[in-house]
Amino acid sequence: MSGRLAAESGLRPTVLLPEPIEEEARALLEQGGLKLLASPDKKPESVAALMPQADAIVLRTGIRLSAELLQLGARLATISRTGAGFDNVDLAAATARGAIVTSSIGANTHTVAEHALALILALAKQLPLLDRETRAGNFRSRYDYRPRDLRGAVLGVIGFGRIGREVARACASSLGMSVLVFDPYFQPREEDRSWAGFCSLEDLLSRADVVSVHVPLTPETRGLLDAPRLARMKKGALIVNTSRGGLIDEQALARALESGQIGGAGIDVFEREPPEAGNPLLAAAGAILTPHAAALTRDCVVRMAVLAAQRVLDVLDGFLPENVANPEVLQQERWRGLKPRAAE
Ligand code: NAD
Repeated sequence: MSGRLAAESGLRPTVLLPEPIEEEARALLEQGGLKLLASPDKKPESVAALMPQADAIVLRTGIRLSAELLQLGARLATISRTGAGFDNVDLAAATARGAIVTSSIGANTHTVAEHALALILALAKQLPLLDRETRAGNFRSRYDYRPRDLRGAVLGVIGFGRIGREVARACASSLGMSVLVFDPYFQPREEDRSWAGFCSLEDLLSRADVVSVHVPLTPETRGLLDAPRLARMKKGALIVNTSRGGLIDEQALARALESGQIGGAGIDVFEREPPEAGNPLLAAAGAILTPHAAALTRDCVVRMAVLAAQRVLDVLDGFLPENVANPEVLQQERWRGLKPRAAE
């Protein structure tokens, strides 16, 4: 092991695993000469007890690394997320600790896009309802004409990053949908404008037959689709959220489904997970719910964990990892001159 950090400390660097990770990722870390320290459970107090020994953490979504927990990580060099979002890491506290926060963003793009497409198709074709009717012996439900066509319908994509773009492309090229995009941080090029229209959020909401949400949860995007915005949508439009629960007001969405203002919702993510018994979406007809499972194919989970492990090895071996979420940390003396592994 080249292990710059090991050389600095004279110890075998330790990777804390607050939750189990796939065998393939464990093997990669162990082959890299790292010691693995698994928390017995994901209670903050269990993780807190192990924090002082951690040089690195491979983090899934089941625990939040708060400022209080990060304060205990005296040796912490890096936190590597197995997924895309950073909303379960206090980034400012990680930077104050001197820890590089990184992720396997990109490893789940196709998988989550496929799930969003599955929800769009299942809603448009009314699969859960028709499945129930068929099993109940109501074969005549075929004459209720519940499924709708998507060809020629307008898809509104909120957030034109990796996943949003993939969903938009598939809907345009395979399903023949028109695409509208709202993403104030994306600079469209000529090629983008050849197949997608770029517009304001208000414009998108009033014109889209299907809205799919692909933005991170930030203070700016929390509650992005609130009651007034849901009311502005086309009557009977479909909505899909595979991003984060806090982006849509769940109470308002349940009411809009009830009134028919929204014709169907495909929801993979919830404000609180698992959703509490009283969550109105659990009882909402017209909603298809999945348990934050969009990225959780076996292939994707292995890909994400292995990439997260690779990022840990990068940092501990003295290389600049990809996807640093807190680039300001790289200004600290400890990380000056860090270069990507490929550049060596
Ligand atoms: P990404 O960073 O590639 O894209 C996010 C896009 O959102 C960017 O283009 C950005 O400009 C845009 N954006 C940011 N703020 C915005 C705003 N206020 N309004 C409109 N657009 C805005 O991320 P990605 O890989 O495409 O992932 C999107 C989101 O999907 C992630 O943030 C994550 O929360 C979620 N996700 C969920 C799962 C799951 O299992 N359900 C898995 C992976 C990712």
